[in-house]
Amino acid sequence: MAYQLPTLKYAYDALEPFIDARTVEIHHSKHHKTYVDRFNAALDGQPALQAMKPEDLIANLDKVPEAIRTAVRNNGGGAINHSLYWDILGPGAGGEPKGKIGEAIAAEFGGFKAFKEKLADAAVTQFGSGWAWLVVNKEGKLEIIKTANQDSPLSMGKRPVLAFDVWEHAYYLKYQNRRPEYVEAFFSVINWRRVDELYWADQKPCSGCCC
Ligand code: MN
Repeated sequence: MAYQLPTLKYAYDALEPFIDARTVEIHHSKHHKTYVDRFNAALDGQPALQAMKPEDLIANLDKVPEAIRTAVRNNGGGAINHSLYWDILGPGAGGEPKGKIGEAIAAEFGGFKAFKEKLADAAVTQFGSGWAWLVVNKEGKLEIIKTANQDSPLSMGKRPVLAFDVWEHAYYLKYQNRRPEYVEAFFSVINWRRVDELYWADQKPCSGCCC
């Protein structure tokens, strides 16, 4: 079964004024869709790989034939990374995390303010196209990392619970070269309740939304 572009849980203008409607529309209906289409094209004629969860493919790229490995890494990564990005955003969100994720962030980073500074720094300093992430590492601890292009933390054995797209296509229409302004605005649309659910779910990060 082909991988599907997930439907957003909110309208394209729901993240205004922090992320503008035009950006969300193009980002979802063009950029994200292209990754999904190219991911499916890469898996064409590969029923065994098509039967695998996309997250499992990305977590086990060594099992993907070399001829399509780069296409799967880039486009499968792009497909699932964006699914998580949309999943953890929402209108009427932002603020400080509560619940278990709030406690874990306080314990691991010394408080939300320090966490926010660290995540923002990762997002601003990721050179070129890429992502900043809040992940659960192999020891079960929270960690902030960044990756280039569409590389997923899953390929490093880390489970992402928050995806922060810092490709220019995520912000350029509204913020142009001012990535730090987009980074600050992003914190106003993080749906921490969803991040909390993902943190606690002993399952793949996008279950239910896209697979
Ligand atoms: Mn993107």
